[in-house]
Amino acid sequence: MSEEIHTGGCLCGALRYVIRARFLQSTLCHCDDCRRASGAPFVAWSFFPAGSLVWTKGLPKMLFHANRERSICGDCGSPLTFYDPSIPQLFEANTNTLDDPARYPPVDQCWICDELPWAATCHDLPRFEQAAPLPGQP
Ligand SMILES: [Zn+2]
Ligand SMILES: [Zn+2]
Repeated sequence: MSEEIHTGGCLCGALRYVIRARFLQSTLCHCDDCRRASGAPFVAWSFFPAGSLVWTKGLPKMLFHANRERSICGDCGSPLTFYDPSIPQLFEANTNTLDDPARYPPVDQCWICDELPWAATCHDLPRFEQAAPLPGQP
């Protein structure tokens, strides 16, 4: 079996990483902490075996909150990884920082107890191929 290689990085390019391990699963997290840490209504996370990520360019800034560890880019703020020491065998890479996020489709959603009431109906909203009309413009 060939080795799986997953690469990713932050918005500004200061950080790059490689994960040499089997992709396990992806989820969408609605928890308050992920929402605040990302600025997004929910976050796609991909699970990989702990210790399988190597930073190939730069080193992240580490944030510790609620006994959990998050890495972000100290330059552009991209949220990159999440690690919960109570689940030591796994870590989570922010799916949207992987170079080909389409390869990691989520199979479930967690922390629905914190879900924004409008998040579940996002896919029913009008869709525009590119920019949406701005408010206050004819
Ligand atoms: Zn960056
Ligand atoms: Zn979360």
